[in-house]
Amino acid sequence: MSECLFCKMISGEIAPDKVYEDDDVLAFRDISPQAPHHVLVIPKEHISTLNDLDAWHAPLLGKMYLAVKEIAKQAGVAESGYRTVMNCNQDGGQTVYHIHLHMLAGRDMQWPPG
Ligand code: AMP
Ligand code: ZN
Repeated sequence: MSECLFCKMISGEIAPDKVYEDDDVLAFRDISPQAPHHVLVIPKEHISTLNDLDAWHAPLLGKMYLAVKEIAKQAGVAESGYRTVMNCNQDGGQTVYHIHLHMLAGRDMQWPPG
């Protein structure tokens, strides 16, 4: 059994607050939301960091962004806007080592991020 928190969500060992799922991608609400709408989109394949991506993962990354597009439409924030972020390793602020795309919406986002 995997020790990875997000793999446990994929296997059903832990039940996330799911907002989207298909064959390759799962999306659920962040447990500590940083915006009124904060969702994490993850691949079902365990990939620890962006540095572990290979060329054959390119379609999978595309599917993650297509999931974001669908979630934004469903949440009614596609036109008002949203932000996507993927953190990598310590300086990037990554705390869970299974890649995930943050999708934040429902407030004005600042730039540059902290
Ligand atoms: P990062 O810091 O980019 O690795 O993001 C990890 C995210 O996972 C953080 O925003 C956490 O709030 C979120 N998180 C941690 N544990 C859980 C959980 N059990 N369910 C949902 N989100 C979680
Ligand atoms: Zn994992």
